[in-house]
Amino acid sequence: MEEAKRIRQLPPYLFARIEKVIEQAKAEGVDVISLGIGDPDRPTPDHIIDKLCEQAHNPANHRYPSSVGMISYREAVAHYYKNRFGVELDPKIEAVTLIGSKEGIAHISFCYLDPGDVALIPDPGYPVYGIGALLSGAESFVMPLKAENGFLPDLDAIPAEIARRAKLMFINYPNNPTGAVADDSFYHKVIAFAREYDIIVCHDAAYQDITFDGYCPPSFMEYPGAKEVGIEFGSCSKSYNMTGWRLGWAVGNPRVIEALGRIKSNIDSGCFQAVQYAGIAALTGPQECTCEMSEVYRERRDIIINGLNHIGWNLAKPKAAIYIWVPVPKGYTSISFAEYIFKKTGVVITPGNGYGEYGEGYFRIALTVEKERMIEAIDRIKDKVGHVEF
Ligand SMILES: *Cc1c(COP(=O)(O)O)cnc(C)c1O
Repeated sequence: MEEAKRIRQLPPYLFARIEKVIEQAKAEGVDVISLGIGDPDRPTPDHIIDKLCEQAHNPANHRYPSSVGMISYREAVAHYYKNRFGVELDPKIEAVTLIGSKEGIAHISFCYLDPGDVALIPDPGYPVYGIGALLSGAESFVMPLKAENGFLPDLDAIPAEIARRAKLMFINYPNNPTGAVADDSFYHKVIAFAREYDIIVCHDAAYQDITFDGYCPPSFMEYPGAKEVGIEFGSCSKSYNMTGWRLGWAVGNPRVIEALGRIKSNIDSGCFQAVQYAGIAALTGPQECTCEMSEVYRERRDIIINGLNHIGWNLAKPKAAIYIWVPVPKGYTSISFAEYIFKKTGVVITPGNGYGEYGEGYFRIALTVEKERMIEAIDRIKDKVGHVEF
């Protein structure tokens, strides 16, 4: 039963390995605090759950949905874009429902990458971008995200012969894992670059509603020319604490949206309609819940940043997303520091190299545990690790 090459080439899923270590420690009685996986810990708001329950009782929703999604859900996505960003979208041809944005992020590569083609992939980054290219038999070209560039890719560093072979470019702001955000001039550059080399930009905006200190991230779709060169992936997962529901979208260039829909209609049969109705309630209902969640994450962010800065780090506060991206002290690698912290304190952090080679030298903290546990984690680190040097 020899597996196909594409499966054998898949790297082991980082979190599966971490889960194993945690399970073992828990069995040995360790009080583990996991700051590892970025999965919102608070429940989905009630008005969204109520809509699901109501619609789950309607037999019309028990049948196969449309693989590109209900028009009413795509209209709700368009409504959200109009409200939030002042962006006009035609829900019929410029929006597709996704079974979580991860689904679309993986499938877009099947739409555009043949063997010999190149996908431009941010590193460190969400692993799914590169996996899509790998499963398509295409090549990934890594765009390093470095602190000195504000964790934005340096487009001028991409060789012209690579850019000419590139069909897709993935970017993601507010960024996982670095917490970085992008400004107008970056997006203008991306659009000009994509035009010059005929590249489809895939902007992943999973964290666009989790923001702090008055910061409001733009949508890629706000920029002149964006719709000609690309699409944006969005998700209910982080905005409304709905990771388990599997509901997202892609919007933008109608040809790209149509291609994504065509792949989907051959692979899946769309998203449960009752879940899409719940998504409509999320996107068109009161948005205070996202502000309240942002405030919860902001408080947790401040506990971590202030705590680490107290013992020798010099971290700035990220403006968005649910992560703190932290350099490891002198004498450690990402892995050895994560192991050291875990052994000493029972606190799980994610080694940065799990997000790519340019993540080496960093670790990631996810802000997805309650503040009492955050304080406990920081107290243990202060106690058992103490002052650090760089
Ligand atoms: C969480 C996350 C997503 C969202 O995935 P869903 O499939 O919509 O749950 C997408 N991109 C990044 C970078 C993420 O961290």
